[in-house]
Amino acid sequence: MRYLAAPPAPGDRPDDFAWTMPGELLTLPPVCDSPGCACERAFLGTASLRGSSTGIVIDVPMEEDGIARIARETVARHTGLPPGAIEWAEAIEAVRAITGALVDRDLGDVVRVADLDLEEEVAGA
Ligand SMILES: [Zn+2]
Repeated sequence: MRYLAAPPAPGDRPDDFAWTMPGELLTLPPVCDSPGCACERAFLGTASLRGSSTGIVIDVPMEEDGIARIARETVARHTGLPPGAIEWAEAIEAVRAITGALVDRDLGDVVRVADLDLEEEVAGA
């Protein structure tokens, strides 16, 4: 299925960043309230636990459940909570927010968090 991987380098906008490892799968981080924090417009690397403002569309040989499992473990490691404390529905929702935005995208396209159709409560539901 279509999914997002970390880019080889930051995107071409001045405020783009990529502290992730190129090619790792991305998910969405819980969004905090800190003013000036970039987590609102960052994807979270599932291996590095670091942020990137862009993702690259790839074809990944996995199903939604497999990616959601990785997304849940990633958010657990990121927050220090046990994976069981992260709602499965939340993990699925994060994966769908990403895959839903990729339907009309080509492999290799650059996608930003702003391109996703995010519900206000994605991170805190
Ligand atoms: Zn933040």
